[in-house]
Amino acid sequence: MQKIVFLPWGSHEQHGPLIPADTDTEIAVYEAEQICRAISERHPQYKAVCLPALPFGMAQEHSGFADTVSISYPAAMQFLEEILASYTENETQLRLMVIINGHGGNQDAAAVICHHLNMKYKRTKFMVLHVFSESSRRLAEELFGVFSAHADSVETSVYASINPEVKEGVYDLQLLGGQAAGRHAMKLHPVREISRNGIVSKRQDIIVDREKGKKILERSIRDQVETVEDYLQILAE
Ligand SMILES: [Zn+2]
Repeated sequence: MQKIVFLPWGSHEQHGPLIPADTDTEIAVYEAEQICRAISERHPQYKAVCLPALPFGMAQEHSGFADTVSISYPAAMQFLEEILASYTENETQLRLMVIINGHGGNQDAAAVICHHLNMKYKRTKFMVLHVFSESSRRLAEELFGVFSAHADSVETSVYASINPEVKEGVYDLQLLGGQAAGRHAMKLHPVREISRNGIVSKRQDIIVDREKGKKILERSIRDQVETVEDYLQILAE
């Protein structure tokens, strides 16, 4: 039986005072498990498996904030390549490996490694999906008026939809505690607003709404399942 493998890739980086450092990893794990389950149910001719998550990535934009781990691009790329390649070489029936990436900073490295391995291996193909699909970003804009950057209403609400410990509410960005001002290195990020507490948001309020978060997450999972199915269709032709 041919096999499809999902590998969640996250990051351990400060996420301000409302959500934990491993938020990206937890969202990636949740999505990977849901996508894996959907593919199993809808395509029983494949064996779909979810691997344990890679918890560290490239979070250099958060340098200077506590509770942040960052690895260099070369190290991350070699680590990822060796994991994917060794898994592939130890399997005889592996058709597709899908990285479910939870952190924007990982996306380019994952894309390069997938491309490299797609050239190298014939039997197994590799792809990367980001936890926010294009249409889930548009939905987030509709629901919150903005799809911004980091630990903002969208990410916090999505995370709250999978972790009941996060309290719903409306928080004033200026009143929220967090780490000291002036240490944020989000200069690389294409948003002007520099946060003083680790949150990067285009709005001054952080709205935590579990239902809206759930809608965004479900939209993304639905899209990712379709993308994997489209790819399987191409592989089967
Ligand atoms: Zn995040």
